[in-house]
Amino acid sequence: MCLGVIGKLVSKDDETGIARIGEIDAAINLQFTPLAGVNDFVLIHAGFAIKEIDKKAARSSIRLLETAAKIQDRIEALSLEISDLAKGLRTVRLMEVCGTHTVAIARSGLKARLPDNVELISGPGCPVCVTPVSEIDMGIELALSRKATVISFGDMLRVPGSSMSLEEARAKGGRVSIVYSPRQALEMALSAPGKIVFLAVRFETTTPTIANVVEEANNLKLTNFSVLVSHRLIPPALEAILSDPACRLDALICPGHVSTIIGADAYSDVARKFKIPCVVTGFEPTDVLSSIVMILRQIREGRTDVENQYKRTVTVEGNLTAQESVAEFFEVTEASWRGVGVIENSGLRLKSRFSQFDAVKKFGLNARKVAEPAGCKCGAILAGRSDPRDCGLFGKSCTPDRPVGPCMVSSEGSCSAEFLYGGVFF
Ligand code: SF4
Repeated sequence: MCLGVIGKLVSKDDETGIARIGEIDAAINLQFTPLAGVNDFVLIHAGFAIKEIDKKAARSSIRLLETAAKIQDRIEALSLEISDLAKGLRTVRLMEVCGTHTVAIARSGLKARLPDNVELISGPGCPVCVTPVSEIDMGIELALSRKATVISFGDMLRVPGSSMSLEEARAKGGRVSIVYSPRQALEMALSAPGKIVFLAVRFETTTPTIANVVEEANNLKLTNFSVLVSHRLIPPALEAILSDPACRLDALICPGHVSTIIGADAYSDVARKFKIPCVVTGFEPTDVLSSIVMILRQIREGRTDVENQYKRTVTVEGNLTAQESVAEFFEVTEASWRGVGVIENSGLRLKSRFSQFDAVKKFGLNARKVAEPAGCKCGAILAGRSDPRDCGLFGKSCTPDRPVGPCMVSSEGSCSAEFLYGGVFF
């Protein structure tokens, strides 16, 4: 390992010196840095100073390392607190609802820090994963027909439809483009006469941005822009999952960014109806561990409250301006969730007075019933009933390079996270 640490030279005697590294003074060899003087910073490897370091850069690196050390200390302290709180409890199963949490947990190895009786289960919060094949197929049909250019975020392109992905459709001559903001799709519609359809997949965090572009398109009286609306709402999906008699969840780690829009209070009904602690949570490893501490305290004290660990971003009521904007353009409708099925009031559609921007109506698209890929357990995984390793295809015929199901495509998918950070394939 080529580990290097930064130290400050506090004394020097020809080719040897003493460097202060944190709170430790260490003897070092200065043969390769003859110009380094007392009070200079040097990079030290295997007892040798190998480079003089600019003072400003050195101080910045040292500050970063001190911050990392503090975070590590905090992680250790929280892990110990979790172990203490979990003592004597039966196995508790916590669902991290959001795909971004799934990745944060996997990437930082948090599961290994938890006691055996605290389990983390991934939930339905990866938007790419929950989008039904039939809706991806509609985008592919449109792109291949070349009646319009289908535009979406990059992570949608590799999601398998019933016969191909949008990426493969593009390779076959279909009209497909990637953007990182729906505003770019609008700009494309403004700058060229061709028809543009934005494939709007995602949760409450993104819907205000779509409302914004529909408003703009309406104001500009654009006739070549429309939206294939595939938005989903998180709280109704949680109710559907928790209503399943086979569901064995004890608490919810609720999404941070969705809650920035809808507010922590949006989970009150879920907590009350299912008598389950819900904690809105940020995305740093310390956030997730703090949230688990809050949940275990609730379980020990017999409480089933909504709590907000992510107060630096999320308020009780959420972003009311964004909510008003969504309410002006969209209405709530039933929607199909991969693996969970059709859930009442869990989707959005454009209000009829904006139907000129509804791609389904504009192009007469129909959602066909399509079977899931054979052997794929994405549905059960998204509903918290299965684990990626329960799937016989995991790591064999299904990998991030050759995904069979959506949970292996998205960087937020639980199969992809388990494959990349689960440790088995290293
Ligand atoms: Fe689906 Fe692949 Fe995950 Fe299996 S490993 S559930 S096929 S995405």
